[in-house]
Amino acid sequence: MSPQSTSRQTVVVCSPGYWAHEHGGGHPLRAERLRRTYDLLQAYKALRAKNTRLIAPRPATEEELALFHTQPYIDAVRRLSEGDPYVAAHRFGFGPGDNPVFEGMDLSERLKVGGSLQGAQMLMRDEAETVFNFAGGLHHARPGETSGFCVFNDVAIAIAWLMEQGARVAYVDIDVHHGDGVQWAFYDSDRVMTISLHQDGRTLFPGTGSLHEEGRERGKGFAVNVPLPPGTDDAAYLYAFEHVVPPLVARFVPDILVTQLGVDTHYRDPLAELKLTTRGQVAVVERLSRLCPKWLALGGGGYDLEVVPRAWTLFFGVMSGQEFPDPLPSGYRRKYGGEFLRDPAPEAAPEHVVGPMRSQVEEVVKELAQIHGF
Ligand SMILES: [Zn+2]
Repeated sequence: MSPQSTSRQTVVVCSPGYWAHEHGGGHPLRAERLRRTYDLLQAYKALRAKNTRLIAPRPATEEELALFHTQPYIDAVRRLSEGDPYVAAHRFGFGPGDNPVFEGMDLSERLKVGGSLQGAQMLMRDEAETVFNFAGGLHHARPGETSGFCVFNDVAIAIAWLMEQGARVAYVDIDVHHGDGVQWAFYDSDRVMTISLHQDGRTLFPGTGSLHEEGRERGKGFAVNVPLPPGTDDAAYLYAFEHVVPPLVARFVPDILVTQLGVDTHYRDPLAELKLTTRGQVAVVERLSRLCPKWLALGGGGYDLEVVPRAWTLFFGVMSGQEFPDPLPSGYRRKYGGEFLRDPAPEAAPEHVVGPMRSQVEEVVKELAQIHGF
């Protein structure tokens, strides 16, 4: 681990308010993902290290939500949450399926935004070097519409706030889904660079994030998309990441790095088809940790309950310079099962599968190098 990462002052934003309410039914965005992550961090005593701190989130105010969202939408979320039957939920994207209205929605989603904003504020005041709000990263929400399980776009709100302070922001999104809501929010700007690596939109929600979405007007060249074929493994992902992300971020020279650390790229994830292990995911996060002295790390997707807490605990280890023992702590194991923190080495996939996938990834990198000139 690099000396820089071991000395970083690292803050986690979390409180039980994050898992007090949830979508309900069989919805994949279970609040349990957040509670288990917190429990695993505590089981490893990860928040007792001298350079770490735990703070509780506060709910974002209406003015803060309005940095990105429209007033009619902010009102609708509050009224729907109160059970007001006179709001046309479908006009704002709510309905059965991906984006149901749920009890306590307004407060629980405002808390997640507040957590990301507190992180941004602490970083700007030099009170921390890294802040991890793993309940944040809700990158699909639109100004006037919920989308892809996301009610309020804490990422876009935090970046908009940072821009108001005059900061240049590099945003790197490693969720398996394209970071569309954040990309469109800053598509015209040359003060925010958005980079999203994701499973090719032709094969996965939300369908966008092609190589040729590269920003508009002043923002041309400041949106970067790395669409990856289904089946992309650790080695191919790292190849693409290494060729694209560090050189572009270095050229941009951000004041602050914001990352969306969705872990639905994992091979066990039920919603997508990339084939990463925690080894590949951790290698990416180690590389991210060396890109910028100030880092707002947010969560994101990840729908296998057994995988998410392990991956995010490993990420926190990178952020705070801690190496956790591989056997899961016995208390955690008794409660939730599982055996080891890290995935075993994956079995080698046959060459007729790996070969074409690797050449597709190399092709993507080659095209990106032409578009963005690196
Ligand atoms: Zn996702």
